[in-house]
Amino acid sequence: MFKKLVIATGNLGKLREIQHILGGLEIEIIPQSALNVPECEEPFCTFIENALTKARHASKHTGLPALADDSGLCVNALLGAPGVISARYAGEPKSDERNNQKLLKVLGTESNRHAHFYCVMVLVRHEHDPEPIIAEGQWYGEILYEYRGTDGFGYDPLFLDAKTGKTVAELPLEIKSRISHRGHAMAKLLQKLERLSHD
Ligand code: IMP
Repeated sequence: MFKKLVIATGNLGKLREIQHILGGLEIEIIPQSALNVPECEEPFCTFIENALTKARHASKHTGLPALADDSGLCVNALLGAPGVISARYAGEPKSDERNNQKLLKVLGTESNRHAHFYCVMVLVRHEHDPEPIIAEGQWYGEILYEYRGTDGFGYDPLFLDAKTGKTVAELPLEIKSRISHRGHAMAKLLQKLERLSHD
């Protein structure tokens, strides 16, 4: 098993959650910013293609195994939008605040507020790894008409988790990490790594 792992993201919210989940492992977790990895293009229309590209990019620039997360919010009434462009839904420069405002505006009084977060995690052991380790997760909920809560990032203040009755921005990190799309994907990824370490 490798000793170091680069996290291929510049998103501090994601980084915090991934570091929290991987905290117990005996692997040194290194954010790609610490190794001056330049930002990577994400030109594809599926999460998995973008995640693979980001992981390979970080591994190429660092010579280390790399883990990428591509994720986003998919809203039923918007046919899955904002989807892969979740981070840039309201255009450049990226802004969570403007993305949330746009989402509220586009949905307007639409009564079908069903949505889910999707996350795919891709781990490559080296740049040309032909067998990336891949795991995905979803989190189902609905979009509120106004913000609630101050924690987290992205669409967290607008996304209501049906089971807890709280928005993600009202949930402590420990709980979000257990029930979120990212938490589910990471749990599956860790199981796969565990299995591989016994092969
Ligand atoms: P990516 O960096 O291209 O994968 O874009 C991820 C974007 O999806 C983020 O910038 C957020 O807008 C949204 N997103 C993904 N996961 C979450 C989450 O856990 N909470 C809130 N928004 C999220």
